[in-house]
Amino acid sequence: MKHAQRSRSMRICAIWAVSTLCLIALLWKVTSIHLNDEKSALLGSARQKAAALAKTHARQLSHSLEQADQAALSLQYDWEELHQPQLLERRLRRSVRPSLGLRAAGVADSTGKLLASSGPVLEDVAQTGFFLRHRESRGEGLLVSRVPDGALSSASLLLSRRLDAGNGGFDGLVMFVADPSFLLDFGAEVGLGGHDFLSLVDSAGQVLLSSAYSRPGVVQSPLMRAHAFEDSAGIAVLPASEFDDATRRIVAWQRLAQGGLTVVAGLSESDVLAVYQQAAQRHYGWALAASLLLLAVGGAGLRLSLRRARRERRRAELSKTYSLAVDRAEEGFYTVRALYARDGSLSDFVIEDCNERGAELVGWAKRDLVGRRFLQLYSGSHAQQLLSVFGVAMETGYYEDEMLASPHGPLGARWLSRRLVRSGSEIAMTVRDITERRAQEQALSQLANTDPLTGLPNRHWLMEFMPQAISGCIASNSSMALLFVDLDDFRHINDSLGHGMGDLLLKQASARLKSLVRASDHVVRLGGDEFTVVLQNVQGSDDVSRVTRLVIKALQEPFEVPGQGEHVVQASVGVSMYPRDGADRDTLLKHADLALYAAKAEGKGRFSFYEPGLSDSLMRRLGKEQALRRAIEQDQFIMFFQPRVNTQNGALCGMEALVRWMHPERGMLAPEEFIQIAEDTGLIREIGSTVIEKTIAQIASWRELGLPVPPVSINVSALQFDEGHLRPLLVGCMKRYRVDAGLIEIEITESSMLGGGDLVSGQLAAIRQLGIKLLIDDFGTGYSSLSQLQRLEMDVLKIDRAFTSQLRNESGANVLFNAIVVMAHALGMRVVAEGVESVGQLRALQAMGCDEVQGFYVSRPVPAAEMPALMRQDCLFPPVRPELKLVAGE
Ligand code: C2E
Ligand code: CA
Ligand code: CA
Repeated sequence: MKHAQRSRSMRICAIWAVSTLCLIALLWKVTSIHLNDEKSALLGSARQKAAALAKTHARQLSHSLEQADQAALSLQYDWEELHQPQLLERRLRRSVRPSLGLRAAGVADSTGKLLASSGPVLEDVAQTGFFLRHRESRGEGLLVSRVPDGALSSASLLLSRRLDAGNGGFDGLVMFVADPSFLLDFGAEVGLGGHDFLSLVDSAGQVLLSSAYSRPGVVQSPLMRAHAFEDSAGIAVLPASEFDDATRRIVAWQRLAQGGLTVVAGLSESDVLAVYQQAAQRHYGWALAASLLLLAVGGAGLRLSLRRARRERRRAELSKTYSLAVDRAEEGFYTVRALYARDGSLSDFVIEDCNERGAELVGWAKRDLVGRRFLQLYSGSHAQQLLSVFGVAMETGYYEDEMLASPHGPLGARWLSRRLVRSGSEIAMTVRDITERRAQEQALSQLANTDPLTGLPNRHWLMEFMPQAISGCIASNSSMALLFVDLDDFRHINDSLGHGMGDLLLKQASARLKSLVRASDHVVRLGGDEFTVVLQNVQGSDDVSRVTRLVIKALQEPFEVPGQGEHVVQASVGVSMYPRDGADRDTLLKHADLALYAAKAEGKGRFSFYEPGLSDSLMRRLGKEQALRRAIEQDQFIMFFQPRVNTQNGALCGMEALVRWMHPERGMLAPEEFIQIAEDTGLIREIGSTVIEKTIAQIASWRELGLPVPPVSINVSALQFDEGHLRPLLVGCMKRYRVDAGLIEIEITESSMLGGGDLVSGQLAAIRQLGIKLLIDDFGTGYSSLSQLQRLEMDVLKIDRAFTSQLRNESGANVLFNAIVVMAHALGMRVVAEGVESVGQLRALQAMGCDEVQGFYVSRPVPAAEMPALMRQDCLFPPVRPELKLVAGE
């Protein structure tokens, strides 16, 4: 179709060009025909004119010659009868008729001598051609000849007739001198042009008389060369070479009856055609102008149609490119027009156009699709659905959705995305196959929703799933239970057997969980050793209890760890139920978590349902735990330091690092507010690491200030030994801050030390190996006996504040304390008395040889910034106030 259009526009161009050229050619043809006609008419009339001239003059000349001959004849008779020269002269004078153009007459005798004349004539004609001819022959009649050059004053002709003697012999001749006008009537009335001529030619072709250039009467040197005119009359065009002035002429001639004379009329062709030339010039001018105009119009037309053709070509190319692009596109395109019923309601849609892909996507050939209406193509619910979708697009201007094509359709089950945009009464629709994208999305969401270790759904999945599950419960008016399962002491497995084994155990645990629940239930791994089981459609809490017990029982069974034998792991479970314990996802999750917390608080291997009355303290604890986690994340801990001094002279010999929590709302919190929770939740491990790092960094910065830094003791929880990280942590920090082992001491309570068994004592020995001194903290509060101390290789014994506070100044009151000091010394340990608050206590300690004292009496724990001042003092004992002295003295 486009091709046809294109060739049509090319045809139009050609028509413009050809018709313009044809018109121009026609114009010139007509012009030239017209001019030719004019030319031949002119030439024709010139011929007629020349012929007429020749004829007229021939007739006139013939007449004149007859009259002259009559006059000559009568003279001849007169002469032959009279022979009297005197009489003759009179007769001659009478016979001269100027009206005929005869100027003079004369008679010559047989010797050529002039006998008588009426005017000037030739005196002696004996040698002239006409005399000789008359003498030789009788029948010459009237001879016309030229007067020999120079014989008479003016150019003239000579007419002569023979005179016969009585015996018939030659007796001379009679002659007339004639003006040229006698013979030829030249002049304006004849209408000769500048280059025309009239001539009288004798039988030999010699020009006797000629007139040219409108000078009548002047006998010219013959313009025309001698020319024999064979026929008695005729017309011819003689070439320029025939004339002296090299002018081509139309020549007509007419022979006279007398003396072989011929009158010739010659008209210059160029003069004849002069009019024609002008007309021709004018016509050619017009033709040229008209041609130029035609060219201009034709050119403009051609240019216009060329431009149009070019535009069309471009349009055709564009639409070709467009349709190429559209047809090869991945997307299907359709334009659809709405059809309305009489009442103005939307009745159907007609497919106006689509690309190949579009047709392919709906399983038709394009030619079968274009021009068809929906209701011709589809029926039933499918048609209704299409009409309603397109109806929405007509109404709102836009519609977009994704749909799964029927597996029985042309493409099979594929995901399609369609987008409809209205423009006027038309809708442009694009359809794209998004099956691959969908698959990718699915794979990605699979990845995002799956725990890679166990293949179970993960926390992300649970978050997405819960709202749906709740909606499901609402719809079916059913209940659902959420079980939070936590493996007890799983950390120990990881620590002692390694993560590989830990992972193996988690897999087994997840398999056991999966095997317990119904297909409609879900087991989710939240992370670490935490699992969630979603039980859908549960009948009541009894039902849930039964499953929960099964879960605990299943996880109590020993786990088989390859090469490591069997391991027992307990599980604690917290349960919340929809709708009883919460109406939304977050509440249900929180309550299940709280229930788990409560279960764990009761001991290992137990489960607990959420109860609204779950103790407030539990809630507070939980709140604190969360706050503590935040504090760790946000690094809200700082270190305080409390000096330890020599009991005898008060010199600084060490200090204890004590942690403080700078709570953003509650201000500075003492350890008693959070250490226990940190221990219970295991968060003490992270806090402990922070403390070590901060303390060693502090030592380094004091040293940088050039201060005499004494050893600093760091409190360490038993839990910090769990992962065996303590020693490497210490070594790393010492290296990083370039702090000697001699400046670091570790405080550990006797209870944690003894409870930990070999695991702890081995690590302690290794730490001690580094040169770090080990201090036994809070001695006397545990249940250990002095004798047990022997097994431990420790450097310093810190006696708990409870003992110090009971010290009396009087001797004998401090037997127990004294025994500890003696015993410690015996084991090679120095002794520190904690919580020394009074000078009395100090005196007692001095008396019993305790090595160091620590307590408010010397200094409260102070921020790091206050420590340098204390380090520079020789003695940290407060100056003894008089009243104190008085008391002491009592
Ligand atoms: P502790 O190791 O026995 O530390 C000594 C505690 O006794 C400190 O309490 C200190 O302020 C207090 N104290 C010192 N002299 C006196 C005194 O003359 N009279 C009285 N009434 N108290 C005195 P603080 O700092 O509140 O620490 C409490 C406990 O918290 C510590 O007992 C320690 O067990 C624990 N703790 C403190 N810092 C850390 C730490 O960094 N790591 C670990 N694991 N535990 C720490
Ligand atoms: Ca301590
Ligand atoms: Ca202590």
